[in-house]
Amino acid sequence: MSIEVRCPGCHREEEWPVGETGEVVVRLPGGHRRPKEHLVLAAWKTVHRAAGDPYQTVVGRCPACDQPLVSSSSEAPTFAYVFDLQPGQLVVEGETIHGPAGTMSLDDADRWVREHLPPASESGAGSLAFTTVALGIAGTLLGCWVLGIVFLGWFFWFGARTGELFAR
Ligand SMILES: [Zn+2]
Repeated sequence: MSIEVRCPGCHREEEWPVGETGEVVVRLPGGHRRPKEHLVLAAWKTVHRAAGDPYQTVVGRCPACDQPLVSSSSEAPTFAYVFDLQPGQLVVEGETIHGPAGTMSLDDADRWVREHLPPASESGAGSLAFTTVALGIAGTLLGCWVLGIVFLGWFFWFGARTGELFAR
């Protein structure tokens, strides 16, 4: 008996043994795709969806991308998924949610997580640096182009005025 486990973040798929010893079979390694949005928010949305859905269980963290692994099998073991945010920890296990101040409802937890998301630059530092460099290069090219136009315009304008440019 085994259960199917998948990662909505990077599309990794695994087969887990249940009730007997066996090995985890990796069907699809995944790992290349990353959620486009805030990584913590993406993880929370998956956990949130599973907590409100009797047919989905969060069973672990993806070894390839650290997003939650989910299973739709009724044999799936529950896993305590921890969100380590600035004011404290939020632990979601099955339908039970423990916030820093005690048990929370799904709606309260949703509001709490969205309020306390870490800055996006922590998860998207690489793409931010890339954007800065790309904008810098584009800006430099545009600057050179404008300077070139101004210089040429100036050159021909002076040449036409003095008549020396095309005189010889
Ligand atoms: Zn993954």
